[in-house]
Amino acid sequence: MGVATATVDAMVTNFGCRHSDIVVAVGPSVGACCFTLDKEQAADFITLHPDCVPDPESAKPHVDIRLANRVLLQQCGILPDHIHDNMVMDRPSVTPCTSCNPEDFFSHVRDGVNFGTQVGFLWMTVEQGGAPGSQTGREEGL
Ligand SMILES: [Zn+2]
Repeated sequence: MGVATATVDAMVTNFGCRHSDIVVAVGPSVGACCFTLDKEQAADFITLHPDCVPDPESAKPHVDIRLANRVLLQQCGILPDHIHDNMVMDRPSVTPCTSCNPEDFFSHVRDGVNFGTQVGFLWMTVEQGGAPGSQTGREEGL
């Protein structure tokens, strides 16, 4: 837990981005339908938000790591409407479960050590002479 918020912190601290300008898209990833942890590990997610673990009494509770990321991102200042994940219903989904879709995605959860590689990315807009995240300017791929 915490990679997304560490990324936001780095964008704000190192590049001068404003939290209100950051937009997050959670791409294909394992869903709560397929991701389980031991009870002790799941407890951290229950502490974060009870809805992150829909079956807390199970010996291997399912864990919604997408929701956990949403909660953490909102706690660090990302606007709820700026997070595009499986909870967004008014736009096409960009967050299919990698484990449920073997024809489309690798999945460490499903395939174990024989999984493949997927790529994530971010970009920032940079205004000439201004701070990243400004409304105008060119896009810089990172
Ligand atoms: Zn699934």
